[in-house]
Amino acid sequence: MRERIRIELKPEELPKSWYNVKADLPFSLDPPLDPETNKPISGEKLARIFPLGVLEQEMSTDRLIPIPEEVLDEYAVFRPTPLIRATRLEEILETPARIYYKYEGVSPTGSHKTNTALAQAFINYREGIKTLVTETGAGQWGSALAYAASKFGMTVKAFMVRTSYDSKPMRKYMMSLFGGDVVASPSKETASGRKFLQNSENHSGSLGIAISEAIDTVLQGDQAKYSLGSVLDHVLLHQTVIGLEIRKQLEMVGEKASIVIGCHGGGSNFGGTVFPFVAEKLAGNGVRLIAAEPTACPTLTRGEYRYDNGDSAGFTPLLKMYTLGREFIPPSIHAGGLRYHGAAPLTSRLLKEGIIEAQAYEQEEILKAGRLFSTIEGIIPAPESNHAIAAAIREAESAKQDKRQETIVFNLSGHGLLDLAAYG
Ligand SMILES: *Cc1c(COP(=O)(O)O)cnc(C)c1O
Repeated sequence: MRERIRIELKPEELPKSWYNVKADLPFSLDPPLDPETNKPISGEKLARIFPLGVLEQEMSTDRLIPIPEEVLDEYAVFRPTPLIRATRLEEILETPARIYYKYEGVSPTGSHKTNTALAQAFINYREGIKTLVTETGAGQWGSALAYAASKFGMTVKAFMVRTSYDSKPMRKYMMSLFGGDVVASPSKETASGRKFLQNSENHSGSLGIAISEAIDTVLQGDQAKYSLGSVLDHVLLHQTVIGLEIRKQLEMVGEKASIVIGCHGGGSNFGGTVFPFVAEKLAGNGVRLIAAEPTACPTLTRGEYRYDNGDSAGFTPLLKMYTLGREFIPPSIHAGGLRYHGAAPLTSRLLKEGIIEAQAYEQEEILKAGRLFSTIEGIIPAPESNHAIAAAIREAESAKQDKRQETIVFNLSGHGLLDLAAYG
């Protein structure tokens, strides 16, 4: 029998702290700016939309931030997640490279997003918040947050990008299953939504517009706070459980990663995967950290590095990041979670400094990679995750050409069982 090499950590090996990469960077990041004054935004203003516990983490420069016991209890439902060696893929590609993937699709809602959803839900719960308001692209974030909120007796209101609302009804059902309230965006419920509908009645929506609607709603109410599924420092922080586990798992089999890959939308699964490798990269060990994004929304490979709003209406603070411009409406692609005009300030700065690299992939290539992976490894990947697979395949093929030994690790951020239409 050909065994499958599956590297599992014991429950007690679950990381007890998140890793804050800012503690190890030789520079500090440009602060978020107030869109009204163009000066660094005050904590008071941010506190209107975020709970204090989240803001503390956002500002922190401590290297390790303890994961609360209540969150660890919920992580234990599905973490630690497995690291699997893709031996069959290696064989098909006839590559000398060893390929490993971290599988985050075992989470309750099928993607890595539960890692930050549980953390954010608990922090809000601790501060007496009753409702979390958010945006969701393809619905992965909305369902992760609805699940997490239900754990702490809270409800979620999610503005869902209209193209996904219409084309991916399954995630709507999942959000409802966990007690969430889902609204197609742009909607008539908010001033910003109505503005976009005025311009075009069947507006397909975008993440930027949905964020505007969510913030609009939080500013109108008082027991509600806003929750973001990617981009901000605290979200990437929560996702570092992925990379921390990978490091332990590679150690168990005596491996050292030479290439670490993640797909990049807002930057959370990528950041969470690669940040625990940044300190050794800075120390000069030569590990390559690669972000894979769609050519249809080429934020890192074609965007400008400058201050821009995180949303379309201009409500959010200005973030220093790679951006295609806040008015950019990406075409409808299957990888809905990668349709965002901006990128995390942290991953943006690391790219600017040459610590990470970015590559863009055509939809055809990533779907081909996904089909191959499904057949060979027996897991149907999310269209977003296919970008990481396509990048791993490209690197494995290049290693074959140059007869180079590489240890490639990529994050399989989610399964695609609710995205079968993309393959169809
Ligand atoms: C949301 C999502 C992404 C993209 O978001 P990031 O913040 O860039 O990680 C990638 N993969 C899956 C499965 C997702 O749900």
